Amino acid sequence: MTACRVCGSHIGAPSYEAPAPALTSGTTLLDVPTRVFVCGDCGHSQSDEIPDIQAFYDTEYRISLSSDNHDQIFAVAADGTIIYRTDHQAALSLRLLDLPEGASILDFGAAKADTLRKMVLARGDLRPSVFEVSSDYAPAWQGWVPEAAQATYAVPEAWKGTFDAVMSHFVIEHVADPVGFLRDVHALLRAGGSVLFSMPDVAGNPGDMAVADHLNHFSEASLAHALASAGFELTTIDKTSFPGAFFVVARRADTAVETARTSKSADEAATEAREICAFWERASEALEGGVERYARRKVAIYGAGFYGSWIYCRIGQDVDVVAFLDRNENLRGTTHFGIPVLPPEDLPEGAEALFIGLNPLKARDAIAAQPWLQRTGLDHVWL
Ligand SMILES: [Zn+2]
Repeated sequence: MTACRVCGSHIGAPSYEAPAPALTSGTTLLDVPTRVFVCGDCGHSQSDEIPDIQAFYDTEYRISLSSDNHDQIFAVAADGTIIYRTDHQAALSLRLLDLPEGASILDFGAAKADTLRKMVLARGDLRPSVFEVSSDYAPAWQGWVPEAAQATYAVPEAWKGTFDAVMSHFVIEHVADPVGFLRDVHALLRAGGSVLFSMPDVAGNPGDMAVADHLNHFSEASLAHALASAGFELTTIDKTSFPGAFFVVARRADTAVETARTSKSADEAATEAREICAFWERASEALEGGVERYARRKVAIYGAGFYGSWIYCRIGQDVDVVAFLDRNENLRGTTHFGIPVLPPEDLPEGAEALFIGLNPLKARDAIAAQPWLQRTGLDHVWL
């Protein structure tokens, strides 16, 4: 039994349970089992806390620290132009927040704060501040965030009640007390100030349910519940501008707030979450079947991201994985778990099976569009 992190209800049994190792969003392995609990009262899903969570974010968790130019690709436009994730986040954040002239804005859990830096480039009138629970990123803030507007480990008392806006990209899914986190943000805003959060939308990207360091898997219903509990009036939930993610805007209120109605009820959200958990149970079984068929034979895995890594953890001991295939050019020439990452057209001749490690909502179309993956004698194994 466990208590819901959003509404406090008791949740009896996990809806998904897998033995160690667990896999993090950065595809690091942790020697703990994965368990997901679904709350029928507010529609929230949550995973067990990972051991020594503070040390993990202080010293082990790194986003895009390795190189200045490394950024995740968000999309490739029709003319071949690459759109980077932080460029898209910056434009979307400016549009959704609609900040007044000269607004003060805090990036809360900023990492390198690339999104905020790009917003300030577009809007020179903005006054940026940054906060992070690690000092590793501070060099990336020098030269454009004033020293007094930088904080690590603890937020200065003097910052309370001062910001026109706070934004926090892909942070709240990691925190053990999301309502407490929202209350902290509430306290930092001036009366009527706005908050912008982004986080994974597990219904749009079911892989999120199995990510070990994503302790929270919000539904629209549980998000509305959490915001109201922390004293925020929900303004917008945008789930189309960044596929697989929610971008949420809310305003600081100073009187009691009722939970906003969402397109799906808490009950419907819980049903959907349990279906995703059942998908992962079936995926484990599908892989066991694949392992039996291809034991000690040569196979490749399509996708070097979360799904492909998850597959590797479960089959790598028993089959001969000769390559990961991935279209991300940043990964070209690298290895993942010691195995080469190749462009899909370079699928090695000897591979007898291709295990598909992609978002199952998009996998079939993505594979069908690549003629070099339709070779005679090459079996596709789907999650
Ligand atoms: Zn709940």
